Amino acid sequence: MRIVLLGAPGSGKGTQAQRLASKYGVPQVSSGDLLRDAVARSTALGLKAKAAMEAGELVSDDIVLALIRERLKRADARDGFVLDGFPRNIAQAETLRAMLAQIDQPVDAVVLMDIDPAVLIRRLTGRRSCSRCGRLFNIYTSPPTAATPCIDGRQAHELVQRPDDNEETIRNRLEVYAAQTRPLIEHYRAGKLLRSVDAEGEIEEVSRRLQQVLGDIPTVRVPKRVASRRVARRRAPTRRKPATRPVKSAKKKPGSGAAARRRAVRGARPASKHRSRRRSSARR
Ligand SMILES: [Zn+2]
Repeated sequence: MRIVLLGAPGSGKGTQAQRLASKYGVPQVSSGDLLRDAVARSTALGLKAKAAMEAGELVSDDIVLALIRERLKRADARDGFVLDGFPRNIAQAETLRAMLAQIDQPVDAVVLMDIDPAVLIRRLTGRRSCSRCGRLFNIYTSPPTAATPCIDGRQAHELVQRPDDNEETIRNRLEVYAAQTRPLIEHYRAGKLLRSVDAEGEIEEVSRRLQQVLGDIPTVRVPKRVASRRVARRRAPTRRKPATRPVKSAKKKPGSGAAARRRAVRGARPASKHRSRRRSSARR
């Protein structure tokens, strides 16, 4: 189960990534967490990332990609991963695809957490925390109840809103996200990797929908040979068309030149055509 989760802030992507990961026994790989962790532990990549951040620059894709690669080599990622937070644009998607092909862990699906922006705005503007007990609430979706008392158990909470949770800032953030992600969504749709799930509603319900949408994907690692054949098939349309066929058949059958000539004299069809047709039907 190797998937990428896409979703706007407030779509519940992080929560669902976590749930998917524990359901399928694979790690949730969040590029943000990896970065923070590498910086905190002052690893080689972490130091590079820290230098970039301190210079006021964005951490380069190379560093993030190297962190992801490192993470996916750990034993717990053998059967897959749920990647969250990366890629954010087509260039990153392409470098990610190449890296995953290199380590023989191509993505099975990219899942879009689909949700109405109006719902997102409501979710995000409803966030509050209590200045006394620190609990997090949402005045629309999970308001304080009798089951969640404040410290003294009697007083009502003192709810405050983070300054960047105001509607204007949130609208901005969502617009930036949408502009960034739209081309990425189209990219994955064109590559036939995109699946979409209705992300509105209760956490449990969305979880169930996600599992349905992913139901056909193997949850344990597919043996290497099958997996790499799959990669080849996925790339086939762009790669194979121009010149590979004659080259391939020439390589596979030395001396086919003479044989082909003999057949041509007899008026038979060239063998390469037969063979490639058989090969492609076997692949299907
Ligand atoms: Zn409180």
